[in-house]
Amino acid sequence: MEGYRKILESQRTLIDTQIRWAVESMTDKPDASGDDWRAAALCQKLDPELFDDTYRNNPQIEMAKIACGVCLVSDQCLNYALKSNENALIYGGLTSKERRALRRKMNRSLR
Ligand code: SF4
Repeated sequence: MEGYRKILESQRTLIDTQIRWAVESMTDKPDASGDDWRAAALCQKLDPELFDDTYRNNPQIEMAKIACGVCLVSDQCLNYALKSNENALIYGGLTSKERRALRRKMNRSLR
């Protein structure tokens, strides 16, 4: 169990370092408005597997959410995923399951 904890901790530290690097490397702050929001997506500088929500409760999801939390275009990203019914991966800090729940809630409030 102790070995597993150490592996998890080192995985978190590695991903945290990658997120910090990605944020710091975005020095030219691309335009985050309009259709070009993807140009400012922090995840473009990170391992795409970080945003895979297949294995629920994986600590990697927690780290992906941290990345989304500091991403300049998380609102645009979440809106895109909701409008286009993206049914996999993490978008705008929400897993596919969380987006389905949000969609249901939004649909209920429209009735
Ligand atoms: S909010 Fe969207 S664009 Fe930004 S890092 Fe997360 S998944 Fe990528």
